[in-house]
Amino acid sequence: MSPASDFRNEMDLCHFEPQSLEETLKLLHDMKDDAVLVAGGSDLMPRIKQGHISSRNIIFLARVLELQQIIMGATGEVLIGPMVTHRVLEGSSLVQEKCPILGEAASVIACRSIRNAGTVGGNICNASPAADLAPPLMVLDASVLISNPNGEKTVPLTGFFKDPGKTVLEPGEMVTAIVVPPVPPGWGDCYMKLGKRKAMEISIVSVGVGLVLDESGVCSAARVALGAVGPVPFRAIESEQLLAGKKLEAEGQAIMDAAEAAAEAAEPIDDIRASAAYRRDMVAILTRRSIVKAIQRVRGRS
Ligand SMILES: Cc1cc2nc3c(=O)[nH]c(=O)nc-3n(C[C@H](O)[C@H](O)[C@H](O)COP(=O)(O)OP(=O)(O)OC[C@H]3O[C@@H](n4cnc5c(N)ncnc54)[C@H](O)[C@@H]3O)c2cc1C
Repeated sequence: MSPASDFRNEMDLCHFEPQSLEETLKLLHDMKDDAVLVAGGSDLMPRIKQGHISSRNIIFLARVLELQQIIMGATGEVLIGPMVTHRVLEGSSLVQEKCPILGEAASVIACRSIRNAGTVGGNICNASPAADLAPPLMVLDASVLISNPNGEKTVPLTGFFKDPGKTVLEPGEMVTAIVVPPVPPGWGDCYMKLGKRKAMEISIVSVGVGLVLDESGVCSAARVALGAVGPVPFRAIESEQLLAGKKLEAEGQAIMDAAEAAAEAAEPIDDIRASAAYRRDMVAILTRRSIVKAIQRVRGRS
């Protein structure tokens, strides 16, 4: 643990670099709610430099190796450390094999330099409605493992976000893993995002779709998750229900209905990047395209 004098003198901040999870949790406990965690810093460092962070103690997680792993759990789940960067996620053979939609989403975040710094934990803990990893993680039914000095708890990602910039994390708590359960046989998925440009663009709309098809093309289960069209990323349950039990054809009514239901579920806002009406239209289009792509992937893999 090493307070760095230059930071403290210049900005009245103390910075710490714990070497283990245990040390990090102890620091969090000792500092109560006067500490902020820095993962890759791509969101946080500009805010710290601009003086927008009220905490005096800055805890850098870069040296905590336990948080940088992607491993397979005992029951086939993939455990992703919060300090795994987007670049590592993109290149992971375990992710490619078990949950490729995460690599697909990571590859469209920002640019290579941001992807080298930005992490999975930072992406979800930042709680941006447009966080690119949130819809695909919801499609995979992922949970978040949260630790505090007294123990651990698991929260489904669908219950993790409270408001823009707010999660269920309490002072003294941190995310220590993202848990992705195995997908069932006949599974296909897809993530699509719309930005104003191809590179360096936060989503205007993003859609993740995952579904299970039997051999005759009937969908037995579906998940549809939306980003950037509400205060938090969320599942479009009615859209999912319209797919389940239906035989899915590329131009068929079930897919059209599910796409419209997703657009109905969206609560988009007008802002400088897009109007609410445009966003809603794009939800329908991206949902339809993502469903079709997910179906193609089931067939390609079977
Ligand atoms: C130019 C630019 C372009 C961007 N483009 C995109 C984009 O296309 N898509 C996208 O989704 N995002 C984008 N972002 C946002 C950002 O890069 C990502 O959200 C990134 O994943 C954040 O990760 P980080 O490690 O840098 O987080 P940090 O900035 O280190 O932290 C973000 C927040 O998470 C908290 N935190 C981090 N780890 C933990 C933990 N383990 N437990 C509890 N709290 C934790 C921090 O305290 C902080 O509040 C962009 C940012 C920039 C600057």
